[in-house]
Amino acid sequence: MSDVLKEVLAANETYAESFGEKSALTIPPARRFAVLTCMDARLDPAKFAGLAEGDAHVIRNAGGRASDDAIRSLVISYKLLGTKEWFVIHHTDCGMETFTNETIRGLLENSLETAQLTEQGWKDVGQGPGSRAARYIEFLTFNNLEQSVVDDVERIRNHPLVPHEIPIYGYIYDVRSGRLIEVPEATRVGSAAATAHV
Ligand SMILES: [Zn+2]
Repeated sequence: MSDVLKEVLAANETYAESFGEKSALTIPPARRFAVLTCMDARLDPAKFAGLAEGDAHVIRNAGGRASDDAIRSLVISYKLLGTKEWFVIHHTDCGMETFTNETIRGLLENSLETAQLTEQGWKDVGQGPGSRAARYIEFLTFNNLEQSVVDDVERIRNHPLVPHEIPIYGYIYDVRSGRLIEVPEATRVGSAAATAHV
């Protein structure tokens, strides 16, 4: 058994020992909101946004992007589970700004092993073989952080399955300070009144 596996199971044992009233929680989030954010290990939405178990939906992927799958989760979050406000939260120093589709496709064609970030950018150091299957994946990278928040809020706002009364807030989490910084243009685009339904 790997060290990580042992540690995770031990931590879970401790957690379950004091699980208490959490066993009575129901499926719909008590505080009726959802957060779409990046999978970056430095971000802990429960801590930076003050969440307890049962409070809110947290949907995470690389970059916190409004991918089809993120939208699938948000639609379920509202339609079946009644959330009323949504946050899109990207962050400073996001890895998604360090490469493009071309970059990662090239690295993967070379090998499947973990690449290295050098002064000259990403470099593949694996033995191979790689695969060209990444040609079919849109990695949703970005090179303008604020714009990426605006784009994702806009994409969600304009989705035909998203009701116009849900406000969508756009924020950037600063990994140096732990603070959430509003992207006013994103919040404007995401406001409940800003929709132009077709
Ligand atoms: Zn990130």
